[in-house]
Amino acid sequence: MGSTLDIALPALKTSPKFIFFTDFDGTITQQDSNDFMTDNLGFGADRRKKGNEDVLYERRDFRDAFRDMLDSVPTPLDQCIDILRKNITLDRGFKAFYEWCRENNVPIVVLSGGMVPVIHALFAHLLGHEAADTLQIVSNDVAPRDGKSINEERGWQIVFHDESGFGHDKSLEIRPYARLPAEERPVLFYAGDGVSDLSAAKETDLLFAKAGRDLVTYCEKEHVPFTTFHDFSEIHDTVKRIVEGRLTVKEAATGRK
Ligand SMILES: [Mg+2]
Repeated sequence: MGSTLDIALPALKTSPKFIFFTDFDGTITQQDSNDFMTDNLGFGADRRKKGNEDVLYERRDFRDAFRDMLDSVPTPLDQCIDILRKNITLDRGFKAFYEWCRENNVPIVVLSGGMVPVIHALFAHLLGHEAADTLQIVSNDVAPRDGKSINEERGWQIVFHDESGFGHDKSLEIRPYARLPAEERPVLFYAGDGVSDLSAAKETDLLFAKAGRDLVTYCEKEHVPFTTFHDFSEIHDTVKRIVEGRLTVKEAATGRK
């Protein structure tokens, strides 16, 4: 394998037959860290929910609604991270799934509409520094506002990953894998819960959508095949059966359960 390919498609490094792409907030974690900051430190849940609804029904770009949410949080970034460490918990099945994936050469690629420094800090806290440093995280970033430091009041702002209306178009990372020739192409999974996952939803072979969340509504509206999950123990069970050849991705896409 050439070095160009390694850079473009880092998850192929170990020649896996399966790759697991996943959202972070509300999927790997039980709470959404951006929602938590907005609801508790920024303009509150009512305005946030209105914004999410506008995105789901295509009245507004995710990018703009999301920037408004985060701009309403005046708290210095280091304090935000401290508060999130105390309030955000890991999905109860994720650790076992993560360990199984490591043992079975199923790379996990985290595609997040959140921000790298927050995700990295939460992984280090919830799963340990090794996991935080080795998991591939593709997300937006944070930059200081003019003349300020990120750890000052109103000192930070989000820097979007790309120019798309999503801020981070998650399909950009998945598509090069999806387009590999059949004999080289791994089976691609995706897990998500919300509006930031809409761009990724159509790209993989099997989509896990969190039960009761916006992504389920979207998949039904757009006729995207999916299966629901409540926590990662269900994903773990399904992925394991597929990897062991006991279930196909088609059989697994059972829709709302
Ligand atoms: Mg999410």
